[in-house]
Amino acid sequence: MSRELLEQFHDPALCRDLLDRLRAELSGELRFMEVCGTHTVAIFQSGLRSLLPKEIVHLSGPGCPVCVTHESEVNAFLDLAGTPGVIVATFGDLMRVPGRKGHNLKSAQADGGRVSVVYSPFDALKLAQDNPGDTVIFLGVGFETTAPTVAATVLMARTQGLKNFKVLSFHKLVPPALEVLLADEGARIDAFILPGHVSAVIGLAPYLPIAERYGKAAAITGFEPVDILQALIFLAKCKKEGRAEVANLYRRVVSDAGNAKARQIMGQVFDPADALWRGIGLIPGSGLEFSKEFEEFDAKKLYGITIEDCPPLPGCKCGEVLKGRIRPDECPLFKKSCTPAKPVGPCMVSTEGSCAAYFKYQVE
Ligand code: SF4
Repeated sequence: MSRELLEQFHDPALCRDLLDRLRAELSGELRFMEVCGTHTVAIFQSGLRSLLPKEIVHLSGPGCPVCVTHESEVNAFLDLAGTPGVIVATFGDLMRVPGRKGHNLKSAQADGGRVSVVYSPFDALKLAQDNPGDTVIFLGVGFETTAPTVAATVLMARTQGLKNFKVLSFHKLVPPALEVLLADEGARIDAFILPGHVSAVIGLAPYLPIAERYGKAAAITGFEPVDILQALIFLAKCKKEGRAEVANLYRRVVSDAGNAKARQIMGQVFDPADALWRGIGLIPGSGLEFSKEFEEFDAKKLYGITIEDCPPLPGCKCGEVLKGRIRPDECPLFKKSCTPAKPVGPCMVSTEGSCAAYFKYQVE
């Protein structure tokens, strides 16, 4: 994006104008949820949150992949990190996510576990090439945005005949989670701001049930203040006029059809499966497991890993936060025993977590 164009997206006069238009479209309370950690941060970082009319209630949903990684899944990471002959390869944001007894991958590393932070799954492939005597397990955490790249890496591993590269697939899919949130009466969601990056892969069609089945409006949008304000104007207008529609307002990046090639690669390597989400529980069809053809890469199968629901971390209300039932500052541990320096739950660990955003931007 050119510098001039970027400046237009931040233009204060344009933002003031859009805020006036938003006020004009409001017809009472509008409870909107964003389901993308990048939107969470953008809304806070740009200062938009404090400028929004008081009728707008901003709820942060389960859009941060680290935050929705279940305790049992973190425990599986810890078990693998302690397994002889295994190198765990992970994105850095998983390192501090707490599992059993507050342990995390960082403490596992300090205890002698071989944990390597990588910047892409391709780095994990290189790690496997460089360590032929070990098994490198890449922790597959993320949404439809991450899964195609992981699938492409698996295809490369097959082409190269690399036998010591495996993936622990805990990927999650966004549309099934949206339906669970809408069915939850605690959050009373009026409308969604839909994730830009995920939508670039899946397109518009998987969101249509939000309007058809649940009668709610939703908008795919970008991450600049102007993008977010335009989406809110659309959602407010829909509510005022009693319309339930799903719109793509991010056409400079997202096509209505999404990215067919990315979906094809993902579908070649993975099949949909049930998945456990932290604080939400089991969501049918919301995860990805290896297809029969690629099960030789499946770390779950190789190490007999099973994932079971378990009690949440004591005192942590991440589940309530992720479902939009409470704000982070309504958790009794917020800013007391839970801070970014000493997080109790994952929503305070990740830079895209709503508790961390509330803490950092000092929202009252
Ligand atoms: Fe969990 Fe901490 Fe957020 Fe409370 S403030 S919900 S303990 S992460």
